[in-house]
Amino acid sequence: MSNQIQGIRGMNDVLPDESPVWLYFEQVTREWLAAYGYKNIRMPIVESTHLFVRGVGEHTDIVEKEMYSFEDKLNGEKLTLRPEGTAGCVRACIEHGLLYNQTQRLWYMGPMYRHERPQKGRYRQFHQIGVEAFGMASPDVDAEIILMLADLWQRLGLKNVSLEINSLGDKEERAAHREALIRYLEQFVDVLDEDGKRRLYTNPLRVLDTKNPALQEMAENAPKLSDFLGEESRLHFEGLKALLDVAGISYRVNSRLVRGLDYYNRTVFEWVTSDLGSQGTIAGGGRYDTLVEMLGGKPCPAVGFGMGIERILLLIEEQSVAVSLAVPDVYIVHQGDAAARLAFVTAQQLRTTGLNVILHCGGGSFKSQFKKADASQARFAVVIGETEAETLTANIKTLNGEGAGEQRTVALAELAMTISNTHEGK
Ligand code: ATP
Ligand code: MG
Repeated sequence: MSNQIQGIRGMNDVLPDESPVWLYFEQVTREWLAAYGYKNIRMPIVESTHLFVRGVGEHTDIVEKEMYSFEDKLNGEKLTLRPEGTAGCVRACIEHGLLYNQTQRLWYMGPMYRHERPQKGRYRQFHQIGVEAFGMASPDVDAEIILMLADLWQRLGLKNVSLEINSLGDKEERAAHREALIRYLEQFVDVLDEDGKRRLYTNPLRVLDTKNPALQEMAENAPKLSDFLGEESRLHFEGLKALLDVAGISYRVNSRLVRGLDYYNRTVFEWVTSDLGSQGTIAGGGRYDTLVEMLGGKPCPAVGFGMGIERILLLIEEQSVAVSLAVPDVYIVHQGDAAARLAFVTAQQLRTTGLNVILHCGGGSFKSQFKKADASQARFAVVIGETEAETLTANIKTLNGEGAGEQRTVALAELAMTISNTHEGK
């Protein structure tokens, strides 16, 4: 059809047969976040463009080429669909006074927007769960959020995920390293790609974050930030490692791990898997002690992470992880006017007892209604025909699970009780 309007490239619909795993994931993560005392915060999807330029960093992939930015037609304001959640979360916390002299453990979930080349595990609208902890400077909370993720992989039954960590030091240490790095990279200016040349002086650390195999050796032998770390940064990193060790979480120190956002200091980490090709990072984060101040708040230490929900769901599918999905308890089929009215009321009565009930709507033969009941995967069909309507009874047929195929007729008054008893005894 020529006049059919298509969805936007890289922005996906989640269809009804895909959404159960989303719901399952959301249920597991809500319980998981509550177990660590994190509270939910919800920010708008649209923010001022300045927020990301200042918060994410002018010379990052995100700000240079991935943002969906536009001008408000009415007042000319420069706006952006959020490419990540941390900047907006910090903005909201400052604006509402949540950071001064207090600690916060926060989480949010929702869509993010980046103009990237769509491929498996990389989309233009994708979803993240973000976690941010404010007001705590010591490495215990860095370790906590890393441990949380290890716990989540376990709760979800995911395998083959591993942890990489690094320390980016503080501002002065990075400045000293940066000088050394620029001097080193200047020798390679001829072989650097376009991005590399441009970033040599603006963001040399990111030159090392190259995916170009020809530049791997150059990146490998570059001056290492770890050699420039001062006492405090080193102790922070040692403290983190000691806590990961007591928690039994194995990790690899990857001195090349710098992450794509500018605001990190000290701890950075990524959880990666080799099961998703080159889109293997399922969660990444770190400490960003200067961001709150950069965005206009009083200095406030902070640490957090973002995880890509689509990638985790892909991994669940890839590893054939068993997911417990909600199916209805009862599908009610009926025939005749009196039965239809009775069925309508009965469905509601069953729901008030806690059962999940689909009432057949839209008419049709018993046969076609039973087909729908089967397709619904409900455990029981409840049949109310003309005879049942006259005698105020219903026929219960077990469709799935233990006793499948069994039938019995009970008084409507006993229907809920009978179903619940049979259900529990499964
Ligand atoms: P990558 O190196 O894969 O581009 P990133 O460093 O840009 O990732 P972050 O900004 O740290 O990603 O975002 C946190 C998480 O969000 C990533 O680890 C990933 O799981 C997910 N993510 C990032 N970009 C996308 C995308 N375009 N589509 C789907 N998931 C994404
Ligand atoms: Mg990216």
